[in-house]
Amino acid sequence: MVKYIFVTGGVLSSVGKGILTSSIGKMLQTRGLKVTVIKIDPYVNVDAGTMNPYMHGEVYVTDDGGETDLDLGWYERFLDLSLKQENNITTGLVYKAVIERERRGDFLGRCVQIVPHVTNEIKHRIRTVAKTSSADVVLTEVGGTVGDIEGLPFLEAIRQMRLEEGFENTLYVHVALVPVLDVTNEMKTKPLQHSVNELRRIGIQPDTIVARSPMMIDAEALRKIALFGTIPEGAVFCSYNVESIYQVPLILDKQGMGDFVCKRLGYTCPVQDLHEWQQVVNAILKPEHEVRIALVGKYAGLTDSYVSMNEALRHGGAACRTRVCITYMEAEKLEQNPECVSDLKAFNGVFVPYGFGPRGTEGKMAAIKFARENDIPFLGICYGFQLAVIEFARNVCGLKDANSTEINPNSPHPVIDLMPEQRGVEYKGATMRLGAHKVILEPNTLAHNLYKQEEVYERHRHRFEVNLDYMEVLRKNGLCFSGKSTDGRRMETLELPNHYFFFASQFHGEFKSRPGRPSPEYYGFIRACLNKKLGKPKPEF
Ligand code: GLN
Repeated sequence: MVKYIFVTGGVLSSVGKGILTSSIGKMLQTRGLKVTVIKIDPYVNVDAGTMNPYMHGEVYVTDDGGETDLDLGWYERFLDLSLKQENNITTGLVYKAVIERERRGDFLGRCVQIVPHVTNEIKHRIRTVAKTSSADVVLTEVGGTVGDIEGLPFLEAIRQMRLEEGFENTLYVHVALVPVLDVTNEMKTKPLQHSVNELRRIGIQPDTIVARSPMMIDAEALRKIALFGTIPEGAVFCSYNVESIYQVPLILDKQGMGDFVCKRLGYTCPVQDLHEWQQVVNAILKPEHEVRIALVGKYAGLTDSYVSMNEALRHGGAACRTRVCITYMEAEKLEQNPECVSDLKAFNGVFVPYGFGPRGTEGKMAAIKFARENDIPFLGICYGFQLAVIEFARNVCGLKDANSTEINPNSPHPVIDLMPEQRGVEYKGATMRLGAHKVILEPNTLAHNLYKQEEVYERHRHRFEVNLDYMEVLRKNGLCFSGKSTDGRRMETLELPNHYFFFASQFHGEFKSRPGRPSPEYYGFIRACLNKKLGKPKPEF
């Protein structure tokens, strides 16, 4: 019988519900249970694909081409899962389905209501994930904060699930901020108490409460949370600030949360084995070296815009026992102050991430040119790949004003152009080339050495690609396209063989990067940055 854990949040958003949910999953997984995770996003967008990363953080892409909330990335990284589109449920998706059924006449003349029709659709979607994943435990994180208007139908649906699935098969976890006052160093539980009251008003009594606070909560705070939350003191846990978020399952397990959750759900599980995870964490916490990376991007002001990329760089670092210090550089600043590009000399590597639209592209290309001319290790991802092609076309092949038609539709040399199937696409949502596609890597290239395989599946999210009309001139001038799609018509990776490390990919290796198993392209980049810093010959891989 599948069991359900529901995670709600209180006081304010961004208290780390995603990390907590992933950590609970980890504690169960290391006790031999099969888990899966659902993220509920109460916004009216159908998916995260149309949302601005600068406001909402990055769009995470699943193997099956879902454009999802970034929390799915945390679930995948912590639990080493490959989730699907269906693991992200939004208000838009739920209402779209209900309204489509209404238009079809499926409701036979009845009045269509939030309860039961919308709530039934929500429960149906949660149960579908339970079925298709064949998990023992389905964790569902309800986005937003308890009390938000848009979250109410979801909370009502999970309230009903206790009645339908049974007490022993459902568990409510509530996480809320416990601030510490600067002046008195006092831990304040009142906001948390209010959020628990709000949850109860909706009809949900939490089974366990997790206090999110800067430091381990004291006995007094714990007593109050238990008393006002109407739960035993042994059901209160604390997620305090740690150096690496990958430590969170370890600190919660130490407090007994893993055992508590298992017992409450009626499992007699073998003891946990967090040994392997501990080793991964140790590699992150005890680096022997350090490299400095310049990330030249357009959304540099919000680090969540590049969260999977940050993590992939750090996974690569951990595999080389290296701390990766990332400096975010606004690409536009390099356009306004071109002399600043020489600041890149101070870095061990230059990284150009994904992006959309013309803003900042000239700055990114200036950074790529500088890295290429000064042989600074370079990694470009998606837009970073396309801009590396444009920079090479302009400055090495002499194709003046070469560009992408995304940036200049009238460029005399559109070396990057819309994919044929993208022409005429009007809808923005879910219409890019998305998800995992096969990439063929040519033997005796850096790409092949990095991946050590001839065929890999990597995730994509783009509308534009290398224009085949320019292949010959690019190749003749020394640009090697080492990875291609199965039909050979889409360029997937590029490299400059005579450089120390100059590599870029149309795909996004970061989405499949895991702590302890870094994405090969990210690992290769960090390894090259480190070797070059240490004055070693270029790595062979
Ligand atoms: N804007 C480019 C495209 O649509 C690159 C996309 C990306 O970097 N994810 O092809």
